[in-house]
Amino acid sequence: MLNRGGKSGRPTIQYQSSDPSLSPLLKHIMRDSRRHPHLALLTLQAKETFLWNYPTCTIVYNPNGPDAAPHLLHEYGHALLQHAGYSRDVELIAMERAAWDQALILGWRWNIPISDNLVESALDTYRDWLHARSLCPRCGATGIQRVNGIYNCLACYTQWRTNAATTCRLRRRVIAS
Ligand SMILES: [Zn+2]
Ligand SMILES: [Zn+2]
Repeated sequence: MLNRGGKSGRPTIQYQSSDPSLSPLLKHIMRDSRRHPHLALLTLQAKETFLWNYPTCTIVYNPNGPDAAPHLLHEYGHALLQHAGYSRDVELIAMERAAWDQALILGWRWNIPISDNLVESALDTYRDWLHARSLCPRCGATGIQRVNGIYNCLACYTQWRTNAATTCRLRRRVIAS
């Protein structure tokens, strides 16, 4: 966990990590975030996953996760871009791509290399998962997602809704057929 504290105005850092680039990165992020008014209350929280929580302005990161520094930079990318939510899965992919682009720029500036493979495999994970969401739970055809997030099957007219992408466990709930 990291918070802005102390009279010196320097962040207090308490965590353990096997990745030596994480400690300087956390300092970079806290320093950089001060230049962005919308991140004035940014909190960095060490847990067992990586995510950006817009309502609480919190980045959760896993200091012991593989490629912790690139993934933390990616979440900071979401934070910088003020990503708040999405109504269609295609928008989610665009946001994921944009956050990685931001991470690549900052990684170059702060000397944290991010491989193309890492970015592509992270995006592929989303693409595969989103593809699974788009499959009709009744007949298996690929459905069309409307602006309100509900999928329609053009083959059997089933409608379904899926859970939020951030939880990363697929659930499809039939709402009409
Ligand atoms: Zn992301
Ligand atoms: Zn169907």
